[in-house]
Amino acid sequence: MENNAIRFACNGCGICCKGRLIPLTLHETRQWLKRGHEVAILLEAFDELHWSPSQEEFAHAKGRAVEVTSGDASIRVIAVFAGNALNSCQNLGDNNLCGIYDERPLVCRIYPAEINPFITLNPASKICPPEVWEEGEVLFTDRVIDPVLVKHIERSRKADRDDARAKIALCEILGLNVVAWKGNAFAVYLPDRQQLLDAFVFYDTLMRVSQLRTDWKVRVDTPVLRQKLQQSGVALDDQEGAGYIFHSL
Ligand code: SF4
Ligand code: SF4
Repeated sequence: MENNAIRFACNGCGICCKGRLIPLTLHETRQWLKRGHEVAILLEAFDELHWSPSQEEFAHAKGRAVEVTSGDASIRVIAVFAGNALNSCQNLGDNNLCGIYDERPLVCRIYPAEINPFITLNPASKICPPEVWEEGEVLFTDRVIDPVLVKHIERSRKADRDDARAKIALCEILGLNVVAWKGNAFAVYLPDRQQLLDAFVFYDTLMRVSQLRTDWKVRVDTPVLRQKLQQSGVALDDQEGAGYIFHSL
């Protein structure tokens, strides 16, 4: 078991709290907004026809997604709600300590471990300084080793599945219906904080019992993929930069 063991001891440098988006569960999103902080929404779509990774990965992605209509086709959309810490997390103190440590999001408890079961922990891909690796407790061998961490990861994956439909409904209430194609790009929205709070109220009062009928569109700039999706009947978005940031991968 000690072969390939990765040891890790966080030094509290706070680098992981800066220059990034912090994925949140729906419950954490409400808390984040109520604290007065901004939330970004990342949207990506896929379908079985154009899926190239394994069937196991498709099943995992499907569990986090909602099937919606796009033109003459059905696509699956994943919405990620994330705390906006693109400069620095608003909960981070001057001393680099988390101001909401006991209530910090699951993802902050899990980092630098991976939530996605198909991604293996690789210290080289993490922003932690090199000296924090190979010290402290064993974090990972051929699997995550810490039972508390395992529990957090399971809770995070469950929330991803349980929250999927509500997150898509919130996007529909806000009129966010253009999505990027998984593996090709992300569509990133930065909704007004109050509008997102209002959308939660609308969802709580009305949407739990009814459904909006939204026609989703896909923004793809890569000509070959555009053509393939068009041939499958997927509705494409041609309005560049209409209310979202298009982040090509
Ligand atoms: S909530 Fe706390 S731990 Fe998470 S990114 Fe913000 S400051 Fe860091
Ligand atoms: S970047 Fe790594 S070492 Fe620094 S606070 Fe975050 S988890 Fe800890």
